[in-house]
Amino acid sequence: MNTSDNNSLDNPIQHQTYLALPDGLYSEVPPVRVEQPSLLVLNHDLLTRYGLSTDWFESADGINFLAGNHDYAEQHPMAMGYAGHQFGHYSPQLGDGRAHMLGQLKTNNDQFIDVQLKGSGRTPYSRGGDGRATLGAVIREYLISEAMAGLKIPTTRTLAMMATGDKVMRDYQMVPGAIQVRTATSHIRVGSFQYAYAKLGASGVKALADFLITHHYPDVSEHEVSDNKNKYVALFEAICVRQANLIAQWMLVGFIHGVMNTDNMSLVGESIDFGPCAFMDEFKANKVFSSIDRESRYAWDQQANIGYWNLQRLAETFLPLFDDKFNEDSDKSIEMAQAPLSVYVTVFQQAFQDGLKQKLGVTASTQDADDFINEALPTVAGESMDFTQFFDALTRVAQGDESETQLLSLFSNQEKGEQWIARWHSVRDLSSESVKAMRAANPALIARNHQVEQAIEDAMERDDFALFHRLSQALKNPYSVSGDNRDLQAAPMPEQRVLRTFCGT
Ligand code: AMP
Ligand code: MG
Repeated sequence: MNTSDNNSLDNPIQHQTYLALPDGLYSEVPPVRVEQPSLLVLNHDLLTRYGLSTDWFESADGINFLAGNHDYAEQHPMAMGYAGHQFGHYSPQLGDGRAHMLGQLKTNNDQFIDVQLKGSGRTPYSRGGDGRATLGAVIREYLISEAMAGLKIPTTRTLAMMATGDKVMRDYQMVPGAIQVRTATSHIRVGSFQYAYAKLGASGVKALADFLITHHYPDVSEHEVSDNKNKYVALFEAICVRQANLIAQWMLVGFIHGVMNTDNMSLVGESIDFGPCAFMDEFKANKVFSSIDRESRYAWDQQANIGYWNLQRLAETFLPLFDDKFNEDSDKSIEMAQAPLSVYVTVFQQAFQDGLKQKLGVTASTQDADDFINEALPTVAGESMDFTQFFDALTRVAQGDESETQLLSLFSNQEKGEQWIARWHSVRDLSSESVKAMRAANPALIARNHQVEQAIEDAMERDDFALFHRLSQALKNPYSVSGDNRDLQAAPMPEQRVLRTFCGT
């Protein structure tokens, strides 16, 4: 591979770290050519963050490279194998059925970032699928991942959205195809470990674990390992901590991932694979959006439990690494997995509780304050309030920007509202730090499902990307609203409500 860092017209994707993994965990395979590639959207802000120029990405070479029309001889593009528990049922052979890992770009901080094409054609893992993605699904991932980034929640990102010029068949209709150019710190999932364990046994798991430590958890080998905690237990615990924090952050902004299958859970603690996900409008703890989640397995309030369940599946693959004598006696390994799992529970509870206090602007730890915090979400649910509007209105009262009228108007029962607000005043922290912390915890804007769906419909049916651009711009800074985008704060009218989100892949 040639590496010249200076010329902005050179391809910056010049590394393929996954080649260090054992054979069998991936297949080298190039993306499949498309009819007429074009660049629909380039994420300039993200490139600026990486310290890269946009020139090559906008060049003919860049566009062909990011849409599958290149010879890739030096790049070693690959599809990665993974397994996964989907809605609780184990599938031994999933893998990148429509995605190609092109390699890594290097940021100006010498960080390596995965660049993957999603919707780039069939691979050895495609099973019956066509390997393609619809424009609608790519728009959805773009907007949700940008919203996540705006909320400062760890997430995969979308570097670019490519049109393919091909049509794909979905629900008996031909719709425009597209490719998402996705970036991530890593694409290793719980399902990658399940796959490695099934295919190669402990040696495969060890290779993946060592890869993760080297590239993504350097602290594990440098600091954390003590006599009674081996390197792999320390890695497992570090993974548990990141996952606990991530899920707490999701829940605190009313996010429902919708398909927390083990193949959709990243081991670096980033949100990944936004399919039938959504930010809640009206708050309901057991809310579900995904049309395929018929048993409410991935409801808003189930997400921490599911995270734990997924980490147990991960622990099962780690067991042989925890103790040399695992094959003769597995008890010790199983016991060693318990402490990190307990850490997950503690970290999640702490992060969620702290986050809720921050949202409410309460720092006291009196009995009154505790009771108030514990009753806050049931109150929001009982009054059928819009989650985001409620916490935003509360923040604006705390900031002194607004009288209580608007906040009170969100309560269906005014008397209850007045009592609740009076109670809030009696426990809340008036300091400017607390008010600032409230603002940081309470976005004014979220990627509302009805707006995302409207942006998809406009683009798919009328080739109109205006709403898409408006949303992606506004969601970059979801804590402030300007006159131009005040309307984006609106909850859906009854007829606009999206009750179910379909994969629309
Ligand atoms: P997902 O629901 O996107 O997390 O994908 C679950 C599995 O189905 C993964 O192995 C995907 O690669 C695969 N898959 C999803 N859509 C397609 C498609 N259109 N063609 C081939 N494989 C697909
Ligand atoms: Mg997936």
